[in-house]
Amino acid sequence: MDLYSGYISRLIEELSALPGIGNKSAQRLAFYLVNQPKEHVKRLADAIVEAKEKVQYCSICCTLTDREVCPICSSTKRDRQTIMVVENSRDLAAYEKTGKFHGVYHVLHGAISPMLGIGPNDIRLKELMQRLSAESVTEVIIATNSSLEGETTAMYISKLIKPTGIKVTRIASGVPVGGDLEYIDEVTLLRALEGRIEL
Ligand code: ZN
Repeated sequence: MDLYSGYISRLIEELSALPGIGNKSAQRLAFYLVNQPKEHVKRLADAIVEAKEKVQYCSICCTLTDREVCPICSSTKRDRQTIMVVENSRDLAAYEKTGKFHGVYHVLHGAISPMLGIGPNDIRLKELMQRLSAESVTEVIIATNSSLEGETTAMYISKLIKPTGIKVTRIASGVPVGGDLEYIDEVTLLRALEGRIEL
């Protein structure tokens, strides 16, 4: 039996499909939304649709941006010879917040996971290799998470880059195993960056 109106049920279903939103939170959000003034709800809906339509991958580092080339890649103040490889744009934001990394980034949008059937071709690795052959890069810092997938990805990338002669480093393991980079405080991130080791 459908306890709520079909529209509410559908809204709850859509909301509960979002990451980190369980059925209870979805119900709370759904009831909150239907009780809001129409303009408020429309603003939210428009923001979602516009973000989806306007956001694209930076043509250089693949991070999410609303321009062809993101602000970091277009900045003249960044050191283009050092590339930090991260799993997603949230990790980029975490490092960017420390204000201490002056190189540029490359966002993979995932990590290699044989268990989930995610292979090297499913992440933005080809784009990284193209960058390395086109630009003069002296160091690639691999800052993938210290989860099994993150480590697998780091090893894979390191093996791929090694023959090019470019220095490959891995951030230190100050980052807890299985730790999601975005939840780790800035001090730990900096320590991990400063203590990076050559692979
Ligand atoms: Zn970029």
